[in-house]
Amino acid sequence: MFDNLSDKLDKAFHILKGHGKITEVNVADTLKEVRRALLDADVNFKIAKDFTTRVKEKAIGADVLTTLQPSQLMVKIVKDELTELMGGDAVGVNLSGNPSVILMSGLQGSGKTTFSGKLANFLTTKKNKKVLLVACDIYRPAAINQLHVVGEQIGVEVYSEPENKNAVEIAQNAIKHAKANGFNVVIVDTAGRLAIDEEMMTEIANVHKAIQPQETLFVVDAMTGQDAVNTAKAFNDRLDFDGVILTKLDGDTRGGAAITIKSVVNKPIKFIGTGEKMEAIDVFYPDRMADRILG
Ligand code: GDP
Repeated sequence: MFDNLSDKLDKAFHILKGHGKITEVNVADTLKEVRRALLDADVNFKIAKDFTTRVKEKAIGADVLTTLQPSQLMVKIVKDELTELMGGDAVGVNLSGNPSVILMSGLQGSGKTTFSGKLANFLTTKKNKKVLLVACDIYRPAAINQLHVVGEQIGVEVYSEPENKNAVEIAQNAIKHAKANGFNVVIVDTAGRLAIDEEMMTEIANVHKAIQPQETLFVVDAMTGQDAVNTAKAFNDRLDFDGVILTKLDGDTRGGAAITIKSVVNKPIKFIGTGEKMEAIDVFYPDRMADRILG
C-alpha cells in the first residue's frame, strides 16, 4: 500500500539529501516533486497545492536552509502536515446510547456488510459489547444472507425481516428487539446501489431520521480514488455523517482518498479495512498513516 507515493516522496527528499549546500531552488524543486507525487496518488489538485504552500511556509519559518539536516526537517514538516490533513488525532465511535445505534451507509460493493461484521466483531471482542447486526437491505435477499453468514462466523446475532419491504420499520423493530434483549450496540447495514440514486438516498435519509443513530458511518472503497471523494461528498450532503470508513487499503490503492477525504467533507476517517477477514480492521491513526505514506 502507498508504495508508489512513498517511493516518489522519498525521491523528492533525495533532492535535498544530495546537495552539500541547500538552496531555495532545491527546496522549491523538492516541493514540486512532493506535489507531483500527491497528484499521482489521486490527491485533489487544490489540496495538493495548498499542502505544498503550507509546507513551504513552515520550511521558511523553520529556517530549513540553515539547519544541519534539512531533508530530515522537511520530512518532519511534511509528516506533520499530512497528519493534520488526515485529521490530527484518532477519533472513536460514539457508544453513549442505550443501545448505541450505528447506521452504515455507502455504495454497493464498498465493503459495508463486511465492515459491519468487522465492527461488530471488534466491539464484541475488544470492547465487551453485546452487538446486534441488522440487515436492512430490502432489495437484495443475497445481502441479507451475506450478513447472516458474517454473523454466524463471528457469533453475533443478526436481525432481519426478509418479507418486510419497509427499511424504516425493520430498523425500528430491530432497535426494539435490542432494547428488550439487552444489546448495547445496534449496527444497521443498509442497502447500497452501484451508483448514487435518489431512491436510495431518500430511503437512507428516512431511516436516519427515524432511528436517530448515535453514529452514522460512511463506507468507501479506497481503491476508487477521486470517485471516493465525490461519493463521500454526496452522502455527506444528505446524511451529515459522523465518520468515514476507508476499506480495501490492503489493495493496490494510490492512497489519495485517505489524504483528501477529510479536507473535502471535514469528517474524520475512523476505521480502515485492510482485508476480507473479520480481523482486518484498524482504528485510523492519522500520524501512523502519515508514517506509512512516508515509508
Ligand atoms: P457491500 O456491498 O458494501 O456490503 O460490500 P461487501 O461487504 O459485500 O464487500 C464487497 C467485496 O469487497 C467483498 O468481496 C469483500 O470481501 C471485499 N472487501 C470488503 N472489505 C475489504 C477490505 O478491506 N479489503 C479487501 N481486500 N476486500 C474487502
